[in-house]
Amino acid sequence: MERMATEDFDTVLLDVDGTLIDSNYWHVVSWQRAFTQVGAPQQDWRLHAAIGMGGDRLVTEVAGEDAEKAHGDAARDLWKRYYDEYITEVLPFPRAADLLHALKERGLNVVLASSGKPDHLEFARKLLASDDVIDAVTQGDDVDTSKPAGDLFSLALDRVGGRKAFVIGDAPWDVKAAASIPLPTVCLRSGGFAEETLLAAGAKAVYDDAADLLAHLDDAIEVCRTAT
Ligand SMILES: [Mg+2]
Repeated sequence: MERMATEDFDTVLLDVDGTLIDSNYWHVVSWQRAFTQVGAPQQDWRLHAAIGMGGDRLVTEVAGEDAEKAHGDAARDLWKRYYDEYITEVLPFPRAADLLHALKERGLNVVLASSGKPDHLEFARKLLASDDVIDAVTQGDDVDTSKPAGDLFSLALDRVGGRKAFVIGDAPWDVKAAASIPLPTVCLRSGGFAEETLLAAGAKAVYDDAADLLAHLDDAIEVCRTAT
């Protein structure tokens, strides 16, 4: 029987919020305050379920198109203002920096494929203190169409001239964005999404957090490799 040739990965694309830094719940609280202030209060669980999609899509996803038209820009401005207040409380996940270094040691281009704001990404990079192994970054304003569209991951791959990549993320939106290219995704539960939710979205494997993935990194890469 002919065996399909499987090329090795040369690039890994990493989501940042909920994957490398423990920020998702601060984003939920920031959005919750923002929606309340524009007069369209939302339940936190609905906000959490939308975390990880681009801010340009989140208002419509959570509150509908009319709310987006009436309050979208105001809500986004307020979300940023509140998150700017909370950001100094945000911590990197344990061993997140070690995970980045371990990926680089395996010969991979390491790209932070964030859809966040430039100053939020800058803060995350300071927390991770791993610029020595980060080959490129993206941020939300780099593309017109945010996750779950695949544009951000395509751009991230292009920035390093990558040939074959896998994605590490925390949200169903990461999995869907990656699948549209298509790239396989390993998910972490550290963003607050259930394993069943992530697997149903198409994640190839799910680990607790950066430290758990680091402990099983070669297995995870192999799962992705055989999935492609
Ligand atoms: Mg995320």
